[in-house]
Amino acid sequence: MAKTKYSKADLEKFKKNIHSKMYDINENIEAVRSTTSSNSSVFAENNTEDYNEGTEAHEVEKSFLLMSRESDYIVNLQKALQRIEDGTYGLCEVYQEDPIKCECPTSPLIDKERLLEVPNATKGVFCKEKKKLNLV
Ligand SMILES: [Zn+2]
Repeated sequence: MAKTKYSKADLEKFKKNIHSKMYDINENIEAVRSTTSSNSSVFAENNTEDYNEGTEAHEVEKSFLLMSRESDYIVNLQKALQRIEDGTYGLCEVYQEDPIKCECPTSPLIDKERLLEVPNATKGVFCKEKKKLNLV
């Protein structure tokens, strides 16, 4: 039987890791907010659609993008915490849909190192690549 769950101790570790990442992000957002708050009206006027990663991008646009990216990340981390509560955290999503389709080599559980690095990962590396190519 393949192991499909991390131990309670591991889950605690993941939870702590996620919390500290969320804390860091909040700090970042606060820092950005306090430096750009005087220009906050610019947010509404600036269209970020034609933003390219060029050097001419305004500081404010950059902060705006950073903030929206960071808050997306927070949402994903919150979902990760929910998965810890649900007991599905770390289990490859493909495996959850259909164990036969899961290509994770050793175990349908995502590597511990990877989860600590990318806590919002939902699939094993192999399955992620396959999904990208629409092979799953
Ligand atoms: Zn998988």
